Amino acid sequence: MAEVCREVQEWIEEQIEQPIETWENQQEQRCRNEPCNWWMLCLNKLFCWLVWVLVKVVRWVLVTVGKWVTRIVCEIINVIVSVVAAIVTLVLSIPILGGILRTILNWLTEIFWRIVGIFDFLGSLVGIRPRKRMYVGVLIPKRDGRAIATEADVMPQILKAQDLYDRLCNIKLVYTGACEAAIDAPDDALTPSCDVGGFFSDWWIGGSYYEFASTFCKFSDGFRRVTGYGGQIIVIVVDNVEPDSATFLTMGCSFASTHNYVVVEAPANPAIAAHEIGHACWLGHDEDDNGNLMWPSTLAADPTLSNWQVSLVRWSKHCVYF
Ligand SMILES: [Zn+2]
Repeated sequence: MAEVCREVQEWIEEQIEQPIETWENQQEQRCRNEPCNWWMLCLNKLFCWLVWVLVKVVRWVLVTVGKWVTRIVCEIINVIVSVVAAIVTLVLSIPILGGILRTILNWLTEIFWRIVGIFDFLGSLVGIRPRKRMYVGVLIPKRDGRAIATEADVMPQILKAQDLYDRLCNIKLVYTGACEAAIDAPDDALTPSCDVGGFFSDWWIGGSYYEFASTFCKFSDGFRRVTGYGGQIIVIVVDNVEPDSATFLTMGCSFASTHNYVVVEAPANPAIAAHEIGHACWLGHDEDDNGNLMWPSTLAADPTLSNWQVSLVRWSKHCVYF
C-alpha cells in the first residue's frame, strides 16, 4: 500500500472509528446501568440497547465500506501520479541533461516551499513546534548482481536519526524500508566524492544511477520528490565516500537541496545519516562545538542541535505536517 494511502486509512481509524467505538462502550455501560421502569414495560432499557446495536451496525458497515472505497480510490490516484512522476524521474536520470534539470528542479522546489513555510519557520524560532514528519528510505546498490550491504548494516544510523530528530526537533522520521537497486552500480556510484568534483560527477553516470534506481525503488514517493513537498530523503549506501585523508575519513555526503538523497558508508558512526540529513535540510557545519550534530569531524555519541538549526531543519521541504 502506498504510504499516503496507509496514512489516510490510519486517520480514518483514529479519528472516526475509535471515537465511535469509545461512545459505543460508554453506551453499553449506560444500558447495563439503566433501571428497568415497570411503568414503561422496560421499554426504556430496550430502547437503549436498540440505539447501541444500531450505532454498532451502521458504524461497522460505513467504516468498513468507507475504508475500502477510500483505499481503492487512493491507490488508483496514487498509481496514476506515480507513473507520471516516474516518467519525469526517468528523464531526470539522463546523464548531464537530466542531472542539470534535477539540480534546478530540486533547488526551485526547495526555495518555493521555504517561502511557503516562512511563518512556520518563524514560529519554530520562538519555540512553536508541533509534530512534523520526514520520510526516509534506504537504497542499497548492487555489484555483480549482489547488494553491497544489508539493511542491518545501515539500520543503526536510521534508528539514531529517528531518535535524534524526534528528541531535538519534534520530527517523526518515517522509515519507508530498504530496497536493493534493480541493476548493478557503475564504479562512480559506489565511491562518490564529496567535493566540487563530486557535485559535477553527480550529473554524469553515478548521479544518473542514483536517480534511476530511486525511480523504481521509491516508486510511490516519486510525485512527492518531483514536487518537493515531503519528498523522501533516500539514504544510499556506498562503498566509500571520498576524499579520505590520513587523519580523517569521510563517511557520508550531501549537497543540500541539490539531491533528494544522501550517501553514507555502512557500517559507520551511527550519527552519520542524521548528520547528512541535516545537510540535506540546509544545515552547514558547526566548527565550534564538537558536541553538535553538524561537527565536521568524529561525531559525539549523543550530538545536539541549536535552536536555529532545529528551525532550519523543520523549515525544509522534506519536513511536513501531512
Ligand atoms: Zn558534513
